[in-house]
Amino acid sequence: MSAPTREPLTGTLIFERGAPESRCVESPALDVPDVSLSDVLSGRQRTEPPVLPHVTEVEIARHYERLASANFGVDSGFYPLGSCTMKYNPKIDEWACRLPGFAGLHPYQPPATVQGALELMWELQEALAEIAGLPAVTLQPAAGAHGELTGLLAIRAYHTANGDPRARVLVPDSAHGTNPATVAMCGYEVVQVPSDERGGVDVAALNTLLDTDVAAIMLTNPNTLGLFDENILEITAAVHAVGALAYCDGANLNAILGKSRPGDMGFDALHINLHKTFATPHGGGGPGSGPVAVSDALAPYLPGPVVARAADGVFSLVTPERSIGRVRSFVGNFGVLVRAYAYIRAVGGSGLTEVAEQAVLSANYLKELLRDVWPLPYDRVCKHEFVLSGGRMRKQTGVRTLDVAKRLLDYGIHPPTIYFPLIVEEALMIEPTETESKETLDRFAGVLRTIAAEAAEDAGLLQGAPYSTPVRRLDEAAAVKRPDLAWVPPEGAPG
Ligand SMILES: *Cc1c(COP(=O)(O)O)cnc(C)c1O
Repeated sequence: MSAPTREPLTGTLIFERGAPESRCVESPALDVPDVSLSDVLSGRQRTEPPVLPHVTEVEIARHYERLASANFGVDSGFYPLGSCTMKYNPKIDEWACRLPGFAGLHPYQPPATVQGALELMWELQEALAEIAGLPAVTLQPAAGAHGELTGLLAIRAYHTANGDPRARVLVPDSAHGTNPATVAMCGYEVVQVPSDERGGVDVAALNTLLDTDVAAIMLTNPNTLGLFDENILEITAAVHAVGALAYCDGANLNAILGKSRPGDMGFDALHINLHKTFATPHGGGGPGSGPVAVSDALAPYLPGPVVARAADGVFSLVTPERSIGRVRSFVGNFGVLVRAYAYIRAVGGSGLTEVAEQAVLSANYLKELLRDVWPLPYDRVCKHEFVLSGGRMRKQTGVRTLDVAKRLLDYGIHPPTIYFPLIVEEALMIEPTETESKETLDRFAGVLRTIAAEAAEDAGLLQGAPYSTPVRRLDEAAAVKRPDLAWVPPEGAPG
């Protein structure tokens, strides 16, 4: 092995760098009257100085640059993380949201002074309504799960206003974990619906679960197996027949943009992750945006404010008549809205259709390149993603999907989503997205085939991976169960 070329990452918090006398600012001399702090604070001031890092400017710059370069993102390599749509986001959308006219706005400005921003939001509401096939949109929710909560609270308010609150919400066994979590947070009982052998909702089972105590079904279509439910019209009709509503998890819309609309499938509500489908990069914890589109029946319950346009073309913020209230301060994450608007306008209507075609083509191409190595439990044309099973590899070689994922890091590729959805053994859930070239897809398939060959020859090699990353295998259970998040200054640390 060659000598290490960079400092190890561990043990180097900003607090542990520098020296007591290091500073990066020189305060100017005091040019106001020197009021004694103890007079102002009358005895409440601290007696010990706070323990702060003492570093020079260049040490700060290097510290954060080193941390950033230890990270992996879409700009560093292929990131085929199923269900999360880790696609390349056009840099021009970053430019657009940083335009001083947008970035410099204050949320307390009177509407008359921010007509351009309101017009942008109104046009985005209209565009998302058209994409969703549903008439009313709120831009408030800050993420997908937050959109789910908003949509389901609107559904609950609707049933309650009808004097029929109901108790249960149906969720398929392939659902994203946020779906049952949302249902529980809204005070409903979660009822699981099994999938059939084609990977869709088991309609016969669904019919036995539907009754007048069901408030809604939460469905993802195409679902987390990347499969479009062939019975969607029958499903939403059966749900409506018992007076329940149909909620669609539209976190990832890139497979159906301009091709099919959840409203036309019979859904009453849908959230859309702007930070997955529409240009904002994600993965670092925000900011995101999860607008919700709803039917006419649910529109009066949307959180306020929404943007309205009067006959004279003046835009204003209004609160729908029976609003569930605010779900977010001000108008939502405005910068994310600007990116989504810029993306939709730049790509255009026919461009959105091409996004869907390319996302689906890329996923099917990759699926065909890999299916002889990893079995495909649901063998159908997929939409934007597909799920392979590592069950056979585990039986034959002892190598688990987790080991394959860790080994991919040594080849500079982010692993796909693993062990989800839960209904596939040793699942590998792959979403190439519409933004990757054929060369990248070919290289990825080649690397996975190499890893499969390595698994057959030397299971230990994979079980010890990764070898080239800043940190090796972490104890993920300990990270969740015993997080060590507070830094305690050593005895006698300089103030
Ligand atoms: C990402 C995702 C969500 C949750 O979105 P967040 O913005 O992370 O809250 C919900 N459902 C599906 C299918 C997703 O992929």
